[in-house]
Amino acid sequence: MLCPYCKSEIPDDAKKCMNCGEWLDPVYRKPKKEEQSFFSAFSETVISFLWFGFLLVIAAIVVYAFLDYNGMINW
Ligand SMILES: [Zn+2]
Repeated sequence: MLCPYCKSEIPDDAKKCMNCGEWLDPVYRKPKKEEQSFFSAFSETVISFLWFGFLLVIAAIVVYAFLDYNGMINW
């Protein structure tokens, strides 16, 4: 069979291409991909949470400044 990655001739029962080193068996390729997507999804969630917190702080400062400017906060 032909390697789908480098198009070189490899044995039909080969699990890994000896030419380019790519895994041909999806069982071996899948866990690595899932791990990567899990971490990228995790970091995306963390970044979106940080952005949400950042915007929340900005909004709180703006609201506080607005109320303070209008003399609505009397300590
Ligand atoms: Zn190959």
